[in-house]
Amino acid sequence: MAEFALIELIRERTAVERDDVRLGIGDDAALVVVPAGAELVVCTDMMVAGVHFPEATKPFDVGWKSLAVNLSDLAAMGATPAWATLGLAMPVADQAWVAAYADGFAALARQFGLALVGGDTTRGPLTISVTVHGFVEVGMALRRDGACVGDVVCVTGTLGDAAAGLRISLAEQGQSDDESRTLLDRLNRPVPRVDAGLALRGCATACIDISDGLIADLGHICYRSQVGAEINSAALPSSAQLRGFTGDESHLSLQLHGGDDYELCFTLPESSHSEILHRLHSTGIAATVIGRIVKGSGVRVSDATGRAIAVEKSGWEHFSP
Ligand code: ADP
Ligand code: MG
Repeated sequence: MAEFALIELIRERTAVERDDVRLGIGDDAALVVVPAGAELVVCTDMMVAGVHFPEATKPFDVGWKSLAVNLSDLAAMGATPAWATLGLAMPVADQAWVAAYADGFAALARQFGLALVGGDTTRGPLTISVTVHGFVEVGMALRRDGACVGDVVCVTGTLGDAAAGLRISLAEQGQSDDESRTLLDRLNRPVPRVDAGLALRGCATACIDISDGLIADLGHICYRSQVGAEINSAALPSSAQLRGFTGDESHLSLQLHGGDDYELCFTLPESSHSEILHRLHSTGIAATVIGRIVKGSGVRVSDATGRAIAVEKSGWEHFSP
């Protein structure tokens, strides 16, 4: 199958109409209209087979996740998703793979009315690079650098599920029960917390999405905000599925260090946090207070009695030896 036919397949299967796309797939570049008074928010996330996902991952799931991880970055900025471009390298022109990939991508894109407006297709080891574009009113983006001493630290949803899902997928056992399927879905089809990000504009002092694990990602907020954080391990939200999961590692370790959850970690002023969390809950967004911003640097974890728990510092780093 020729490159042109693959592009046509992607275009057809991902079609989403938007008034602000003046020119989509088919010309040398796309033409899109950024609303007046908005800032353009742009990010890219790459996925390489065998590095970011097991080679055997279903192409539909690869399509979903390659967009989801990018939408999660937009969510963490408080941005409204609008457009995407797709860089795709594959060893052979595999029509069935591309069709299923495009269906997975489109299933999530349609939920957010996001249009795929261009990309590039080439031969090479299976690699996917998605760039997403969104917008946010001028000056309203959520950033990593605004956390203040005394703020409360919160997370959306539950932590550790995707890490448990990864353990299940690597062990290739017990995948047929409901609990395992739920955990595998959390790994393969993460739901970006776009609504939560939008609701936190003008409220959160800092925000990040959890892709590399809570300790690592909250550590980024601390570093950029020049503060420290104290986490209460007993407060970390866990799903019933994680509580039922048995493996070599403790649930706490999965919750602190497991990546791929794509929940939001954010900070709120002490004075307004209960009112903000109440408002989030009333619109169906689950969020939990897990700790506090303190003077100093780095993330410390303690148990319910306040006793310190030793944690490894780093999260996932591709170039660490
Ligand atoms: P050019 O050679 O001018 O860069 P291409 O032949 O690479 O153009 O691409 C033709 C059109 O198809 C362009 O509009 C491009 O954005 C789009 N396109 C190419 N690959 C992809 C892809 N993987 N996903 C979406 N659009 C693509
Ligand atoms: Mg050209």
